[in-house]
Order: sequence, then structure tokens, then C-alpha cells
Amino acid sequence: MTNKTIAVVGAGIIGVTSAYMLRQAGYKVVLVDAEHGPALKTSFANGCQLSYSYVDAMSSPSLVKKLPKLLLGADPAFRVNLFPDLSLLKWGSRFLWQGQAAREQKNTQDLLRLSHYSRQVLHQLLSQSALEFAHRESGKLVIYTNPQDFDNAKARVAQKRAWGCKQEILTPQECIAIQPSLQRLPKPLAGGIYAATDEVGDPHRFANQLLDQLVKDTGFEARFNCRIEKIVRKGSSVQSLETSTGSLCADAYVWATGAESLPLLADIGLNVPIYPIKGYSLTVPATESAPDVCITDIDNKVVVARVGDRLRIAGCADIVGYDPRMDQQRIAHLLQVCRSHFPDAGHYNEVLNTWAGFRPVTPSSVPIIGQAGADNLFLNMGHGMLGWTLALGSASLLTAQVKQQALPIDATGMRPEDHGIS
Ligand SMILES: Cc1cc2nc3c(=O)[nH]c(=O)nc-3n(C[C@H](O)[C@H](O)[C@H](O)COP(=O)(O)OP(=O)(O)OC[C@H]3O[C@@H](n4cnc5c(N)ncnc54)[C@H](O)[C@@H]3O)c2cc1C
Repeated sequence: MTNKTIAVVGAGIIGVTSAYMLRQAGYKVVLVDAEHGPALKTSFANGCQLSYSYVDAMSSPSLVKKLPKLLLGADPAFRVNLFPDLSLLKWGSRFLWQGQAAREQKNTQDLLRLSHYSRQVLHQLLSQSALEFAHRESGKLVIYTNPQDFDNAKARVAQKRAWGCKQEILTPQECIAIQPSLQRLPKPLAGGIYAATDEVGDPHRFANQLLDQLVKDTGFEARFNCRIEKIVRKGSSVQSLETSTGSLCADAYVWATGAESLPLLADIGLNVPIYPIKGYSLTVPATESAPDVCITDIDNKVVVARVGDRLRIAGCADIVGYDPRMDQQRIAHLLQVCRSHFPDAGHYNEVLNTWAGFRPVTPSSVPIIGQAGADNLFLNMGHGMLGWTLALGSASLLTAQVKQQALPIDATGMRPEDHGIS
């Protein structure tokens, strides 16, 4: 056991799991968040998918090819507002550079390594602790109606098999056998890609359950409604944090603020390449006909998951800066896709919640995990589309780095220097 204190900034799914693992490793932990509780920002109402097999990097040759169409607004899943934002231009050029075939393959392999490790860490934790977060091994089916897109996806399956990732190629009939309502799609199915071992679970409930365990522990303190306003550096170390409720001193600091508070890092010379990509979700009561398997409609990039007695529908990738407004057209789009593809799955007239969050996306899609900017400052951020999927592995890797122990997996691609951060 060590009597060192670590301050974890940000109580999203990444900060809460980091706090938990650091406490397990024997550190005293202070978890700080500007909100009134855990997982209230991007980790609040996301797609709930533990999408261990579908972690392909976002920037790819096929996305780059589709770029003119995306910029013209011809893809319902994407919206790009090309306002003069210097950080978008800088981030965007790096994002496009990562879209070269060899880079995309390397990024996807890095993500697969971390996702498989995350599954292992979650299962190990669940074997020791009973946590209730609507978790189950649902399997995940990605459906295609465009034959060309499906052919590309099939080639990808073969490639990913060589990287240790098991996915199955399904005919339209096999997809329909899994989810009968798919026979009534507006367009005929070309086929599907299925991963039996992918899972579903609610990250907001999971974070609350971990926090319930942590607060019983005298070595842990949570400070909510507390915003970090400045990082105070002295020499090569962070000396303290100035917060809205006073100064906070610790031996080391973990920064897990998702897509937010990047200017505070920039103030100490750390330029972190994260851009917010906005997404939306809505939640309705599930019916008995709701699919057991999680389904992604690739044409609309909409995911549908039964989470306990609810149906969560999530999607959209909007590059609109930090605009916090709820765009009702985006919610209407999600609702329309769901009503048309899964008419019997949910009580669509009883919307329980609509929500928007900012995915913290790096150019490579690989998160940033490790020490940077000061000898006692560690980053765990930039998990993009996959923060829930990658949370446990990232927290474990971070903890090994703080402890200066042998790393549980090869961290290549995840280290700050791999993202151009020194
Ligand atoms: C529509 C949508 C669907 C998604 N679906 C999935 C999915 O199915 N599976 C999956 O794996 N991932 C999914 N994601 C991605 C996932 O939600 C994110 O990657 C993840 O939530 C990021 O977690 P985080 O802890 O890094 O950030 P957050 O959850 O945003 O947490 C950051 C925290 O830092 C706090 N903070 C920021 N600045 C300060 C400050 N200065 N002082 C104090 N506190 C501060 C914030 O209040 C916040 O609580 C989805 C995202 C969206 C938008």
C-alpha cells in the first residue's frame, strides 16, 4: 500500500474507473467533477454498447473517399459545420492523415488490443463484485443494405480475424433469424456482421455503483460541484489545482475530462488533439418484441440496444464545435429510423429521455493514456466513440503507469508521444 494521494479530474466513466483502479492499487484518491454526480456528461445516456469487436478507427480510406458527400450533408448520420475554427482545421488535417490504409489498420489493431483487455478487466471485476447495470452478453449485429459496403465489411472481417477478433458474416436470412422484424426494412438487406461476445450495459449506472463502493472507503473522497479552474505548475511538477471551491493538492493528478477543459491543459503547454463530435440518443420503454441483440444500422449509423426494460437509440456524428443545443431534428431522425426498422420494439410515443453528448475524438481514434506535461500529471482521455467499451482497460493501463509497473498490454498508439504530445 502507498500513502500517496492521486487527484482524478473528471467523474465520467473514464475518471470513475480510473479512481476505482487507483484505489484498488492502494492510492488515496480524490475524485473531482464540476457536475453534481458521476457520469452526467458524455457517459450519461450513450449507446450502452460494450462493442469489443467493432472498434475500427473512424478515419479510414473509405471515410476519406466519402468526405465530399459528408461535407455536402448527403449522409444523414453526419453534419459538418465548417465555421472558421482553427482547432477544427488543425485536428481535421491530422484526422485525414490517419485515414491512410496502413495507419487505419495500425490504429484499429491498437484499439482491438485495448478493447479485448477491457473486456477481460471488466469480467475480472464482475467475478469479484456484484454490480447491477443491466449488463448482459447480447451479441451485436451490424446490418448492411448497400452491397458494396457489405463487400468491404466482409473483407474487413477476414483481416480482423488475423488480428484475433471473431466476427461472423451473415446472410440476410441469418440476420432475419436473429431479428425477424428486419424482413420489413424499407430496403432489402445485403447481409450482416455479427459478434456473439459483444455486450451491453449502462455506464451511468455502472459509474454510480462503483462510486457507491468507493464512498464506503476512508481512502476515497468525492468532490462534486467542484470545477478545476487552473493547473498550478512549479518546476517540472503540478503543485496544485485551483478549483471553484479552493485549492487542491495531491501527489499526482489524472486528467479525465473527456472533450472538455482542454484550454486548462493548453495553459501549461499541453496541446491535446481532441475534437468534440456530438451525438444524440433517446430512450423509450422497451416492448417484449425489443431485440435481444444490439443492432447497428450502418446506412444511418444508428445503434439500438435493449438496456434492462428500456430501448436506447443512439447515433449522429455532428461536427458543430461545443454547441450544446438539442437539435430536435436529430432526435426526430433517430426516432424515424427506429420506427421504420423496429416498429414493435419500443413504446415510441412515451419518450423517457432525449440527450446529446460530445465524444472526445482523437485523430487516430486511439485514446491518450500516460504521463505528459509534468512528471506527476497523467492523461486518460480521447476515447471517442468507445469510452464505455475501453474504460476498464484504460483505467488499468493508467494505474500501471502511475505505479511505474510493467504494463499489462503494449501501450503503443495510446502513449501521449504517439499523439504528438510531449
Ligand atoms: C451518442 C453517443 C453514443 C455513444 N455510444 C457509445 C457506446 O455505445 N459504447 C461506447 O463504448 N461508447 C459510446 N459513446 C462514447 C462514450 O460515451 C464516451 O467515449 C465516454 O463517455 C467518454 O467518457 P469520459 O469520462 O472521457 O468523458 P465524460 O463522460 O464527458 O466525463 C468528463 C467529466 O469531466 C468533467 N469535467 C470536465 N472539465 C472539468 C473541470 N474543469 N473541472 C471538473 N470537472 C470537469 C465533466 O463534468 C465530466 O463529468 C457514445 C457517445 C455518444 C455521444
